[in-house]
Amino acid sequence: MLLKTILNLVTNYKSFRFGRVSFEKKGTAEQYITAEIKPRKNGKAVCSECGKLCPTYDTAREARRFEFVPLWNIPVYFLYMMRRVTCPEHNVIVEGVPWGDGKCTQTIEHRQFLANWAKRLSWSEVAECFNTTYGKVFRAVKWIVDWGLEHRSLDGVESLGVDEIQIRKGHHYATLIYQLDKGFKRLLGIEEGRKEESLQRFFDKFNEGTAGEEQRSKKIKFVCSDMWKAYLNVIGEYCTNALNILDRFHVKGHLTDAVNETRKEDVAKLKKDGREPILKKSKYIFLKNPENLTDTQAEKLSELVGYNLRVIRAYLMKEDFERFWEYKSAYWAGRFLDDWCVRAMRSKIEPMKKFVKMLRKHRELLLNWFKSKGLSSGAVEGFNNKVKLTTRKAYGFRTFDALEIVLFQALGKLPEPKFTHRFW
Ligand SMILES: [Zn+2]
Repeated sequence: MLLKTILNLVTNYKSFRFGRVSFEKKGTAEQYITAEIKPRKNGKAVCSECGKLCPTYDTAREARRFEFVPLWNIPVYFLYMMRRVTCPEHNVIVEGVPWGDGKCTQTIEHRQFLANWAKRLSWSEVAECFNTTYGKVFRAVKWIVDWGLEHRSLDGVESLGVDEIQIRKGHHYATLIYQLDKGFKRLLGIEEGRKEESLQRFFDKFNEGTAGEEQRSKKIKFVCSDMWKAYLNVIGEYCTNALNILDRFHVKGHLTDAVNETRKEDVAKLKKDGREPILKKSKYIFLKNPENLTDTQAEKLSELVGYNLRVIRAYLMKEDFERFWEYKSAYWAGRFLDDWCVRAMRSKIEPMKKFVKMLRKHRELLLNWFKSKGLSSGAVEGFNNKVKLTTRKAYGFRTFDALEIVLFQALGKLPEPKFTHRFW
C-alpha cells in the first residue's frame, strides 16, 4: 500500500490531491517523509479571510512546509505552493487551505494530535515523546482551546458557581466561573485576580452579543459563591434575576480556618504557660472530616477530647454545624443557625466569634441554600479539587496564559474540530 493511499484515507481536502510522497534522509540522524499537495484540476482557491471562491492571482515558486502527524516517529511534512487570490472584498490575499491557517506551519491535525496527548501527559513530556518543542505543544493546545472557545455555546446557562484559587505564592489569585446545571457542568471562565473587576470582566464577555433583558447574565437563576464581598457585589449587579447562594464548601472552609486559628492560639498559649505540647502534630486532625482520620489520628483526637482546650470546643462546634445542611426547611435551619451562633459567641473564642459575625451578616444568603434545594452541593468543591490536580500535573507552566489554557482544556468541555480520522 502506498503512503499516498493512506494519506488519502485519513484526510479529506476536497479540492486538493497528494502528489509525490518521498522518504528523505540527511546524514544518519535526520530523516523525514514529505508529501506534495497539488490543487485539483479546476480546483479554485478560496480567500483565507472570507472563504469565498476567488480567481487565482499568482502561485508561490517555493513550497511551504506544513508539519503533519508523524508516522513511526518519522516527521511528516506537506509541501504546498501557496496561491494568492483576488478577493472582491479582501483584494490580493493568500488562499485558505483546509490543513492549516495563516502563517502557522503546523497542520491542524498535528496541533490536535499534540493537544490531545497533552491531556494525558505534561507539555514537556509530549514535546519529548513526539520530537517537538515545548513551544509547539503550547501553541497547539492554545489553538485547540481558542477554537473551542470560539465555537462553544453559552446559551441556556442557568446556574453558576464562582470560586477563587491561589495561583502562586503571595496574593496571586484567579477567579473561576463554572456552569453547574444538571447534566452540564463545565468551566466557563478564568479571570486574573479576585476583585470586582475580575468577575466583571467575565460577565462582560459572557454577555457579549446579548443585550437588555436578553443578556445571558439576566437568565441566570442560581449563583453559588463564597461570602467574598467583591463577588457578591458583582453578582448582584449582573445577575439581577438570580438567587445568590453561599455554598457549603466555602462556608465549611471558613469554619475550618477558624478552628485552625484557634489551634494556633492554643499551641502558643500552651508554650507560653510552659505546659506539655499536647497539640503537636494535631493540625490535620482538625482539618479533616472525622471519617477520613487515620487510626492514629482518631486515637489522638479521642485523647485530646479529654483536655479542656479551646480548639476542642471549636472543633466540636464545627462538627455540630454540619447539622445545618441537613435541614429541609429554611425556617428550621434558620432557628438552628441562630442557636448555634449564640453558643459560638458564648464560647468567647475569638476566631469563632469572627466566623459568627460573618454568618450573621450573610444570614439571608446562607438560607438561600434551602431554596435552591442543595444545588451544587459538592460541585464547586469537585471542580476546586480538579483544578488543583490539573495545575499540579501541569507543572511546566509559568504564566497566567498557560494556566488558563490548561484549565480550559481539562475542564471546559470545549468542542473540537472534526476530522476524517482520529490520529491519537
Ligand atoms: Zn475574502
